[in-house]
Amino acid sequence: MRLRPSAANPSAIATRSRTTKTKPETVTVSNFPACEHHLEQAGERVSAHIMGVTIFGTHTFVCATCFNLYGMGLGLSKGQILVMGA
Ligand SMILES: [Zn+2]
Repeated sequence: MRLRPSAANPSAIATRSRTTKTKPETVTVSNFPACEHHLEQAGERVSAHIMGVTIFGTHTFVCATCFNLYGMGLGLSKGQILVMGA
């Protein structure tokens, strides 16, 4: 049995969340900053992998956990995935 690619389903394209190649919703950084929400709320330093707009209306660095809780989604002017670059 083989896994069939879901190319025939156009709605699957919009929900893709893998970071394979450089896309408009990614930003290259030299190192991951700290999640500002964790730092502010718990005093914890957690690597932020996303820069995005949160439900609080701020554009900030957040980790994946905080982004799932407070993020407004990915895309230009909403959220961008941080990718470690040279
Ligand atoms: Zn966080």
